[in-house]
Amino acid sequence: MKLNFEEILDSFTAPILIAEPVFAGDNTVSDFSICYANRSCRESVGFVIKNYPKWSDFKNKITSDVPWFEMGVKTLEGKKSEDCTYYSPATKKYYKIKMELAAGKLVVVVFWDITDEKNYSRSMKELTQRDFLTGLLNRTALIESIDLLLDTCRFENKKAGFLVLDIDDMKNTNDVQGTLKGDEKIKKVADILRRFERDNIKLSRYGDDEFLVAITGMDSYDSIVTVTDTIYEYFQLQNISISGGISVFPDHSSEKDELIRFANMAVHRAKKSGKNRFDFFDADILREFIKQITMQSKLTTAVLDSSFTVYYQPQFDIQTGKLRGFEALLRWNDSELGAVPPSVFIPIAEETEFIIPLGRWVLNSTLRTLKKWQTAYNFDGVISVNISPVQFQQETFVFEIESLIEKYNIKPEFLEIEITEGIMIKNMNEIIDKLNYLKASGIKVSLDDFGTGYSSLSYLQKLPLDTLKIDKSFIDGLTSGNGIQANIISSIINMVKNMGLETIAEGVEEEDQLSLLGKFNCDIVQGFLRGKPMPENLCDEYLSGNTSALLTNRSRA
Ligand code: C2E
Ligand code: CA
Ligand code: CA
Repeated sequence: MKLNFEEILDSFTAPILIAEPVFAGDNTVSDFSICYANRSCRESVGFVIKNYPKWSDFKNKITSDVPWFEMGVKTLEGKKSEDCTYYSPATKKYYKIKMELAAGKLVVVVFWDITDEKNYSRSMKELTQRDFLTGLLNRTALIESIDLLLDTCRFENKKAGFLVLDIDDMKNTNDVQGTLKGDEKIKKVADILRRFERDNIKLSRYGDDEFLVAITGMDSYDSIVTVTDTIYEYFQLQNISISGGISVFPDHSSEKDELIRFANMAVHRAKKSGKNRFDFFDADILREFIKQITMQSKLTTAVLDSSFTVYYQPQFDIQTGKLRGFEALLRWNDSELGAVPPSVFIPIAEETEFIIPLGRWVLNSTLRTLKKWQTAYNFDGVISVNISPVQFQQETFVFEIESLIEKYNIKPEFLEIEITEGIMIKNMNEIIDKLNYLKASGIKVSLDDFGTGYSSLSYLQKLPLDTLKIDKSFIDGLTSGNGIQANIISSIINMVKNMGLETIAEGVEEEDQLSLLGKFNCDIVQGFLRGKPMPENLCDEYLSGNTSALLTNRSRA
């Protein structure tokens, strides 16, 4: 049987091309000429063979990344060459090119179609790089590409800005309007950002409600300011409250991680300074950060029993003057930093979750003290303990309280926990269940800092409460101005009392305030006017009958 060689080759679906070497005068290979291309090659590889009989002719026209000549020579020498990928613009297909030696001097080029594989891995890669909600690049994808962006800036002597954006009050949107509305807000921000997407402006969703924008190839610091200002103004125009922090390469750092960290610090400060603003990183931010870090490490290594103490601030019945109880207030005394106010260290303890052992320690110390007072002085008042949301959300929280009550053999109604609206950051129903359980066991529940949040009234109806503490900022305005504030407080007290809650006025410093509160039927007063927070030993004296032990506005201490 006579086989037609060309017929056989034409029947292959894979494109095949056969070339022979062209020798120069000195007998070295100078080129290859194509002696045969099968049908598939003629039809699908994307070039007309007869127009390019030599490899040198099609080399630059077809694809510059396949080293045809070098591969051919290697093959001729009997060496294995690396496989190469070839893209055919005509058929929009990817091929892997393999070369084999035939009959001692012919080079056979086989094209393997790898388009499916290529598309698959490309879409897989794209898929893993995208954020599903917004379609923007995800955090990892952008961070991975930053190295390359910075290299280019270095090479071209350009600047780059990194803008971290954080949507303001996202928690509140999710809580009050639901997560669907929250998602909508995130998508809207992404859509706005997309307007600014360019070759040199890359966007990514960086966290839940955070975005990272990399602005590269900029000539000056001012150009970065102009771009970020424009972005900021656009958000203002759309009535979206968002905070931003910006770091600049190479001015602030030339390291990717540091640049992102600095931009994050700047966004932190923007939030702290009232939100809805963009801040550039600067030395002050770094100083503040170092202070925080120092405090953080000191705090987390502080020995509970020797660095911390609990002070107790008395609360009195406004009508009768009788002692209602004490609020336990934590004090931290560091050997180097001195007395650090709770408003400074509590947020840090919450961030580091050190508040969990710390809060447990406060509860334990306070209940031990309460037991002592009950035994020694027949004290029949309440002790209120501040509970941080982080602490309350611990699964073991209820169990810990119950076991402490058992340990000190105390009636639960003498313990009150003070919570704030911040407690509602997570699953509201779960929190309400927990509060109901505690309340049913006899423990009192008090809502602290009333008047500082913005959805206070709605929480008031939802939470199972015994007591409401009106914040000092409300009390401060009580006797000043045109009486509007006084009217508001009077109606709040009325409403709250109708709901069956006890009302406590916090931060009362003046007689005028107290007498007005008395007129409004507020139940309890807590403030420097009647009693400051005191160390345990002074409370001991006071409870044993020495009324002059009380620290007030007018006492010398
Ligand atoms: P808070 O729960 O609102 O506590 C009342 C704060 O107001 C206390 O500040 C108290 O000293 C102060 N204060 C009371 N009456 C007056 C007054 O008439 N005038 C003025 N100017 N201030 C008054 P402190 O002790 O610095 O505590 C600050 C905050 O730290 C507390 O606010 C509470 O949120 C937190 N905190 C304190 N101890 C603990 C604790 O053990 N655990 C937790 N999680 N937080 C605590
Ligand atoms: Ca409190
Ligand atoms: Ca308070």
